Amino acid sequence: MTGRKSLTHPASIKRFGRRRAARFLSALVAIGLLCAGYRDVPGLCAQTKSPATGSSKSKSKSRSGDDRDSKSASKGKTRAAVAGVGNYSSKHFLVHTDLPAAEAQELLKRLETMLGLISKYWGRPPSGTIEMYVVKELRQWPQGALPPDGLASVENGAGVTVGQTLTQGNAFLAKAIVYAISDRGTPQHEAVHAYCIQTFGRSGPVWYSEGMAEMGQYWRTSDSSVNADNIVIEYLRSTEVKSLNEIVNGDEWSGDSWQNYAWRWALCHLLANNSNYSQRFRPLGLGLLTKQDVSFEQTYGDMAKEISFEYREFIKHLDRGLRIDLCSWDWKGKFKSPKAGGIITAKIDAGRGWQPSRLTVSAGEEYEFSAAGTWTISKDGDSLSADGTPGSAGRLVGAILQDDDGDYHLEKPFELGQFGTLTAPAAGDLYLRCDDKWIELADNRGSLTVKLKLKGKGDPLPPPKDK
Ligand SMILES: [Zn+2]
Repeated sequence: MTGRKSLTHPASIKRFGRRRAARFLSALVAIGLLCAGYRDVPGLCAQTKSPATGSSKSKSKSRSGDDRDSKSASKGKTRAAVAGVGNYSSKHFLVHTDLPAAEAQELLKRLETMLGLISKYWGRPPSGTIEMYVVKELRQWPQGALPPDGLASVENGAGVTVGQTLTQGNAFLAKAIVYAISDRGTPQHEAVHAYCIQTFGRSGPVWYSEGMAEMGQYWRTSDSSVNADNIVIEYLRSTEVKSLNEIVNGDEWSGDSWQNYAWRWALCHLLANNSNYSQRFRPLGLGLLTKQDVSFEQTYGDMAKEISFEYREFIKHLDRGLRIDLCSWDWKGKFKSPKAGGIITAKIDAGRGWQPSRLTVSAGEEYEFSAAGTWTISKDGDSLSADGTPGSAGRLVGAILQDDDGDYHLEKPFELGQFGTLTAPAAGDLYLRCDDKWIELADNRGSLTVKLKLKGKGDPLPPPKDK
């Protein structure tokens, strides 16, 4: 048996995305269209592909275009090398594009930098050259230069990654070709798929594959803050929050809708950047990409309640510039109900989200608070006490975390300040923060030392000294 023959393995043929029948494209190799990555740009593309047109489970016959799609993928390189379309290459990319030379070079540079970052993240160097067709003006391209799938995606203002794999046991050969419009995000999104396919032979389940590709799309150098399109953010904030189970286990597929892509991005962004979950996220992703026996449920099952809460808080405060790493919830904070006269002390940073006060309150009970120290809420801003500005910016505020029916729930925030008493509006654990815009925490400096005790028991708290 020749090696080549034994490599032919129909079971490896699969395609996530649109319904396709598995087929041999030549006698020599089995070709699997592994990932039909699809990105629909809100605003640029009004129409989304109807979910009714696609199901990866469908056994219906594929359209006649399929063969041409895959075959021309391998021939496209030479076809594209005509007037109006230039070929540009760098260490890991071969890009055919009608972009002006300077923009094409800028794209290559950006793709290489992103590839460097994602291959470092996944701990695997990229395998082979990633070939991409990046289209600015379709009329610049000769007819037939793009295969039907690529053409349809580009006409739709989107992109597609066509992957071909040949597997034998754990060994594989994989080649991915990208067709994308030339906006900033789409080539980056598709290049993530292409890297995964060529390096791992697959791009993972839809929620992970598309969520990570969206992260690649929004990637910027040394900046992990939220950078999603405004329409995506507005949609997520204004829609009923989709459950994690729906995102991970819903009957969904690549290319279904930009709305589904938005939820996948939100989940992956949360898991990749929140310090409570990021450490488990990388091995989970690697496990999914290398087909280990891993799952979202296995990895995060014991943290499901915490993730669910932080995910809802993330969506609530979602905005461009939000730094989720600064809002990671401190689940390790030790809370207690104060004994008569006992004082509980906590240090609260200006530059973080809600932080544990360590005080568990009873509904209707009165407590004394005294907050010493100053903080600033902008670069070169004035030092502020816990009272904040006259307009209450930078004021010390509190909120109570309740654990009801197996779900965490944060009650409505209320104002505190330097010194005074509070009546607990509900029972639960008291969390504190500096009242600043959620997207402007990064430039805050300083911290306060906050003392809390039951009112009327023992000596009253003195006012803070340093004012
Ligand atoms: Zn995709």
